[in-house]
Amino acid sequence: MMIDCQVRKRLFETVARRVIANADELTDLDRAIGDGDHGTNMRRGFEAVLASVDELSAKSLGESLKGVGTTLVMKIGGASGPLYGTLFMSLGKSLSDEVTYEQTANAFAIAIEAVKARGKSDVGQKTMLDVLFPVARVLREGGTDITTRLKATARDAAEKTIPMRAIRGRASFLGERSIGHMDPGARSSALIVDAVAEFMEGLA
Ligand code: ADP
Ligand code: MG
Repeated sequence: MMIDCQVRKRLFETVARRVIANADELTDLDRAIGDGDHGTNMRRGFEAVLASVDELSAKSLGESLKGVGTTLVMKIGGASGPLYGTLFMSLGKSLSDEVTYEQTANAFAIAIEAVKARGKSDVGQKTMLDVLFPVARVLREGGTDITTRLKATARDAAEKTIPMRAIRGRASFLGERSIGHMDPGARSSALIVDAVAEFMEGLA
């Protein structure tokens, strides 16, 4: 599939608008088990993406994604800025304009390893990785109705962080008291996956 400049622009806008529209929910989640800034952080990052979307999407898909990653690192801050920045920058390193399904699945798997390394974290610790990892598994499996399954997997995986105890990030300071709340980063990852999957459905 060819992801040209116009498609890239619409994709970045779709993702950015989805995050911005749900920023208050992310902040509420972070208020329960963190410091209540995840929504504000993410809104700031994705508003910066929107502000420079023409410039960002003018380059190749790889360079565009790297640009989005750099913008997110600079603007989001907190723990999630470098982690989302790493995710997008790593995707940028592996994806070309003429993107194949297999290339995307591989790129996503590599990007998750990069996030793990950056966060010194792994699956099962109540973080964004608990959404990103199952999403990568669905991508690797492939098959029919992929976008429907990606959306359902992301949503369910975020829900599954509720009974988890946080081992990484600020929520880990709460120990047992982190149990019973959805992880804000898991939720923001689910929102991003949902927006991308919906966008892909629109292209098909
Ligand atoms: P901060 O925790 O610095 O206030 P945010 O509130 O923006 O940053 O982001 C918090 C989210 O970042 C968490 O909900 C979690 O999903 C994610 N996170 C934090 N630390 C890590 C880590 N080491 N590895 C993976 N994800 C992490
Ligand atoms: Mg926070």
